[in-house]
Amino acid sequence: MIDLHTHSLVSDGTATPTELIADAAAAGLEVVALTDHDTTAGWDEAARAARTYGVTLTPGIEISTRYRGVGVHLLAYLSDPEHAGLRAELTRIVQGREDRVPKMLARLRDLGIPATETALAEVAGASTITGRPHIADLLVRLGVVTGRDEAFARFLGEGGPAYVGRYAADLAMALGLVVDAGGVAVIAHPWGRGSAKVLDEQAIGELTEAGLSGLEVDHLDHDTAQRTELRAIADRSGLFVTGSSDHHGTGKVGHDLGCETTEPDVWRQIVALAAERGSPTVPIEPESRRRA
Ligand code: AMP
Ligand code: FE
Ligand code: FE
Ligand code: ZN
Repeated sequence: MIDLHTHSLVSDGTATPTELIADAAAAGLEVVALTDHDTTAGWDEAARAARTYGVTLTPGIEISTRYRGVGVHLLAYLSDPEHAGLRAELTRIVQGREDRVPKMLARLRDLGIPATETALAEVAGASTITGRPHIADLLVRLGVVTGRDEAFARFLGEGGPAYVGRYAADLAMALGLVVDAGGVAVIAHPWGRGSAKVLDEQAIGELTEAGLSGLEVDHLDHDTAQRTELRAIADRSGLFVTGSSDHHGTGKVGHDLGCETTEPDVWRQIVALAAERGSPTVPIEPESRRRA
């Protein structure tokens, strides 16, 4: 089984990269991609764990982008982590994410909720990328809501009373950077949360010209009808179809490791394309086992 989209607590998952890889092995995965939001900070630890637990690691990033005013998550696989342009863009995104956190906490305090930076730091713990999911966890701890979903619905979602916008990379520019960094770009949950409005077949065609290689069709955000339609669009556009859990540990209910999977042949094509583009990043294969 191959699962190409997971998060550790380096971003907004709840397991360390090591625990995540151990969990992936226990779930029976042969290949797992670590795709923390806007960072490669978990790659090294995950690579060491992959060797230990006998899982093949595909290093990845889920990049926060914007297309026609709407947020779109872009999965980048096997890119060069040292590529200057991509690194600079990720730094800018992470900075924007961090800058807005104090502003959102202030809005919550205006609403009479004692959301302080100290309390947030306790909740976020070892995370290097603090974002809305951690503010949601704080609201849970304060007894204001019962879970992350309720926190987004009532306070933190776009248009919510504590929402503050942040910088995201232009999608076409991000595609260019990923390809230049030798990576392979796949749009995460293209028709989940809002992005269906802008990602029609024509847009997907244009993005394919800009360097897009695949669509994450099999994701819990998509129902059966959406999957059928997205699969047809991917076919006509010559794009890979992937499937993944978008696992966030206990931070996202129902997204168990391996609940959605990617075909081995598609994964091999992604690996081959990154190699063709000259990326120095390759899957980390455990000593005990060769290719899945
Ligand atoms: P941020 O990057 O700080 O804007 O937070 C975005 C992250 O919050 C996403 O990657 C999801 O993991 C999570 N998220 C976004 N919207 C929701 C929602 N409606 N319910 C639960 N989690 C969400
Ligand atoms: Fe997330
Ligand atoms: Fe996402
Ligand atoms: Zn994700």
